[in-house]
Amino acid sequence: MPVSAPSGPRSRATRALYLIPLLALLATGCASASGAEPGSDPTSAIPLPGPDDGSSGRGPGDTADGEDGAAQRPVGDGPLHDRVVVIDPGHNGGNASAASEINQQVPAGPQQKACDTVGAETNTGYPEHLFNWELSVLVKERLEADGATVVLTREDDEGVGPCIDERAGIGNEAEADAAVSIHADGGPESGRGFHVIVPGEVEGYTEDIVEPSLELAEDLRREYREGTDVPYADYLAQDGLDERTDLGGLNMSTVPKVFLEAGNMRNAEDAALLEDPEWRERAADAIARGLAMYLMRE
Ligand SMILES: [Zn+2]
Repeated sequence: MPVSAPSGPRSRATRALYLIPLLALLATGCASASGAEPGSDPTSAIPLPGPDDGSSGRGPGDTADGEDGAAQRPVGDGPLHDRVVVIDPGHNGGNASAASEINQQVPAGPQQKACDTVGAETNTGYPEHLFNWELSVLVKERLEADGATVVLTREDDEGVGPCIDERAGIGNEAEADAAVSIHADGGPESGRGFHVIVPGEVEGYTEDIVEPSLELAEDLRREYREGTDVPYADYLAQDGLDERTDLGGLNMSTVPKVFLEAGNMRNAEDAALLEDPEWRERAADAIARGLAMYLMRE
């Protein structure tokens, strides 16, 4: 599908099409997807069942903007209809002016850590918290278009926190099938690329999530690399994967969870992409595909 196609908000139907090639491969029991043979032109594929049926644009059931205050799309639509995803946009816009609140120590596994941090920013001043928020909202829209229930860990980009243990707790409480924390790094200017952080084994904490989280990371890494033009990080991690045991957001999670460090905000080449709204649409497509891939395997 051409990425240069019309600017402006895409319809739900269009967004849903991004997942069709892979879902057609995976959801073999889904009769309505039978028209999409592997390798067929995705633009000619039959839309998956749901409110998008027969609609080429925004229909009465389309609540993507939430402006009409309508109820959430009914459970039971789309190939991800029984899946719950928690998306955690890292940091928050109010953190910088709430030092005492975000510096308080909270449980982060065997040790304690600060509630949250301010995050990185590009050399032109595009803050990470805003990038994380904007990308997370785009990913949410895409997954919801395919039926998933999506929970964000914060409701806007103006607040403070929540603390890292609460962010993990939101995924636990939702009994999420997958959780992803979206960040961008503030690495050395000379280093570029993305990486996915997976939980290492921390006794009494992460044993149950290490394996599924690695599977999630591999799906996400592959789709993100193919879909975004961002290479594996060349200044840390190994082939775009980094295992860590010191992150509260992972240690406190009881559901499969990874962090995506979407690029290096301090690197000019990466920053030009991260700052580009059109690129963020592509990145969101890739992240949604990676998540869907993992969710359909379960
Ligand atoms: Zn961050």
